Amino acid sequence: MHTTPNTKTQKAKTKTPDFVRVCHRCGGSGRVPCQFCSGTGYVTTRKDRLGMPIKERCTACFGNRLERCYTCGGSGRLHQF
Ligand SMILES: [Zn+2]
Ligand SMILES: [Zn+2]
Repeated sequence: MHTTPNTKTQKAKTKTPDFVRVCHRCGGSGRVPCQFCSGTGYVTTRKDRLGMPIKERCTACFGNRLERCYTCGGSGRLHQF
């Protein structure tokens, strides 16, 4: 499991080359909460006979709750040219 740090991003000097910066969307983890299921891993697209929503595994993230960050393509870094 990869946990996302909750610490606020600090503008500390890093050894990262100038042409590469950490992805602002995923914070460098390369993964973001699934937008399809809002990071829950489940979606409620149907209801049963009683009108209760049926939880189904999210087909976008397959229940992983996270999806690959499309901003950086999952690398966690953005190349600047
Ligand atoms: Zn999902
Ligand atoms: Zn990213």
